[in-house]
Amino acid sequence: MIAQSVRGFGLPLGSRLCSAQSVPLTHLVCTACAASHDATVPQNVSPCCSKPLYPAYDLAAAAQTLTKEALRGRVASMWRYREVLPVRLDADIVTLGEGFTPLLPAARLGAKVNVASLWIKDESQNPTGSFKARGMSAAVSMAKQFGLAKLAAPSAGNAAGALAAYAARAGLEAHLFMPVDTPRANIVECREMGAHVTLINGLITDCGAEVARRKASEGWFDVSTLKEPYRVEGKKTLGYELAEQLNWQLPDVVIYPTGGGTGLVGMWKAFDEMERMGWIGAKRPRMFCVQATGCQPIVRAFAAGTTFAAEHVDAHTRASGLRVPKAIGDFIMLDILRKSGGGAIAVSDDDMIRATREVGAAEGLFVAPEGAACYAALQQLRHDNAIRTEESVVFFNTGTGVKYLECFGD
Ligand SMILES: *Cc1c(COP(=O)(O)O)cnc(C)c1O
Ligand SMILES: [Zn+2]
Repeated sequence: MIAQSVRGFGLPLGSRLCSAQSVPLTHLVCTACAASHDATVPQNVSPCCSKPLYPAYDLAAAAQTLTKEALRGRVASMWRYREVLPVRLDADIVTLGEGFTPLLPAARLGAKVNVASLWIKDESQNPTGSFKARGMSAAVSMAKQFGLAKLAAPSAGNAAGALAAYAARAGLEAHLFMPVDTPRANIVECREMGAHVTLINGLITDCGAEVARRKASEGWFDVSTLKEPYRVEGKKTLGYELAEQLNWQLPDVVIYPTGGGTGLVGMWKAFDEMERMGWIGAKRPRMFCVQATGCQPIVRAFAAGTTFAAEHVDAHTRASGLRVPKAIGDFIMLDILRKSGGGAIAVSDDDMIRATREVGAAEGLFVAPEGAACYAALQQLRHDNAIRTEESVVFFNTGTGVKYLECFGD
């Protein structure tokens, strides 16, 4: 009966989440040393190395019911990939219809940069207007499963909006810490969805420190990016969707605006899972990370050839989602960029704002500056001949421009 309400959000008749009441989630794995950890209790970073934990699944079991054919009748949200998502009971799924966003052909933009096959994955169509919805749907569902009552997170803006929404939907408390100069839309949406909002005179790293300082005494569960194991599971559905929407052929190139990096590392995890389920081969897209010139820790570390990325001092950019001077998943991102034969590139704020209008006028999407940054990066990469004209390219519009009105002139 409870599962019915989960299934009922305006689905076409006959759509179903998979009926499984148990999922093949088996344990958590430390991304630094591969040690196994318990997935039946709430976890943050790995107890062994204080690095991100990845959920692991019995993929052979998952593949028995999660088939390409079975997907045809399933719900048009990220929960169509039910068996490779961590929640045990359908009744605990907290959903607002996130995911399964359109992958839009962008022929007019493609012609401008002489790329024959260009696509935009439009994540602005998610609940709360950004792809943060995916991660928070998964993380809040798991919090509900574990009976957690108070969730806390630092955020550059969109993660806070998404956590506010999913916590409200689940009947849980959200305690959100954002820089004072976060886009106003994010601050207002959190308050109007009943969250406890604290503005911090500093960056997201300062907000994270405040959560860490207070969480024990306040009884908060910390859902910071990659410091809890399940947001990445929501984000990985980007990878499943790319494959499904391109008829199981991954693109040659993926361009992704990178802050904490969950989307990038999540997609890569999805590619590995799909290969192990026999859905795709060994070929991977070349992954390119886009950052802002005012905050480019991954770009610098990629160029320097280091394993980890040093904190970017005095970070500044109006693309708030990219204003992450230090990311706990830096070593995972850098490894993926190198393994995939991709790269990392920084774009100025002025170029992002210019690109916003170019994308908007050419394709009818009012993109977030982070999404526009991908197009500006593509122009640069084509100019440098780092991407060839015959390669198929997907870039991500991770959020809606409507939340960033301060960035644009009157
Ligand atoms: C958070 C955010 C990003 C960065 O995403 P990560 O997965 O943390 O790297 C990019 N764009 C927008 C709009 C965001 O909100
Ligand atoms: Zn470890």
